[in-house]
Amino acid sequence: MIIEMKKTVDGKEIQAVIAKVESLGFEVQINNGKEHVVIAVLGSDTGDVDTQVFEAFSGVEQVLRIQNPFKLASLDFKKDPTIVKVGGIEIGGNELVIMAGPCSVESEEQLLACAKIAKANGAKFLRGGAFKPRSSPFAFQGLGEDGLKILAKAREKTGLLVVTEVVSPEEVKLVANYADILQIGARNMQNYRLLEAVSKVKRPILLKRGLSATIEEWLMAADYILRGNGEPNVILCHRGIRTFDSSTRFTYDVGVIPVLKRLTHLPIISDPSHAAGKFYYVADFAKMAVAGGTDGLIMEIHPDPQNAISDGAQSLTFSDFSRTMKEIKNIAKAVGRKI
Ligand code: PEP
Ligand code: MN
Repeated sequence: MIIEMKKTVDGKEIQAVIAKVESLGFEVQINNGKEHVVIAVLGSDTGDVDTQVFEAFSGVEQVLRIQNPFKLASLDFKKDPTIVKVGGIEIGGNELVIMAGPCSVESEEQLLACAKIAKANGAKFLRGGAFKPRSSPFAFQGLGEDGLKILAKAREKTGLLVVTEVVSPEEVKLVANYADILQIGARNMQNYRLLEAVSKVKRPILLKRGLSATIEEWLMAADYILRGNGEPNVILCHRGIRTFDSSTRFTYDVGVIPVLKRLTHLPIISDPSHAAGKFYYVADFAKMAVAGGTDGLIMEIHPDPQNAISDGAQSLTFSDFSRTMKEIKNIAKAVGRKI
């Protein structure tokens, strides 16, 4: 349930409504929107409360039941698009944000080479995994904290911000010490203990869509993080879903971009690399996302893809990456965005 306050509402009236909500045993979250202050009433049995309980308060414009099972992530709660701000960079604004880097941090030399080329081509974030969930549990799972240290060094040298994945609740604090954005991988989208843990640190979260998750499940997972951290700082990332078709690694779910824009205020980042699984599809997949209204891209790059420890087949060489960046800049311009 959400309570939309009148434009003329004052602080006392807001406090009175909050006190009522809390006296009924529910939690609140508030959105100070451009038009209205909106109070979300959160709890598992808000359906049992009559909307009239709040309609009687002065300063209340209307009380609405939200039909979606996700509330804080929904456009009902917050109508203006969320811009996640991190280290002076805005995600969800007019400028598209590019995140690039190797699938796994393998060595300082490899990561620095990626960072330089990423920066030279307009990326704002360096993305690389130090803790890796893999399709096979027997594959390389990352360098751990040594990988995080290499990421921090690359940030120091290039000024790029760092996005990296966290795979277990116990390691959230450690990873947050090094990362500007925490990534929750596709395989962990519904790992609720992990979502709770990341919601407690002050870092934006890049939440990848689960391999077989519906959009509703994905937005509920986002909602769960939002509920924990009190700030709208979740970035959604689509990376392909599992279907009957095996001609690409995953089926590219680029159609989610306009769907999400009708459902949520959260920014959307596209990952063409993991969907494609093959480097030669990545540029076209990236272009589709830019044309379709994405707020940014994640692309895997590697100085020597043939010898990459993970995801070499989908990693762009530096020259392919530079070419792709030039091409997407033109598309961005055509749809009124900048890179
Ligand atoms: C990754 O980003 O390298 C990764 C493992 O992605 P996903 O969780 O989307 O499979
Ligand atoms: Mn990868």
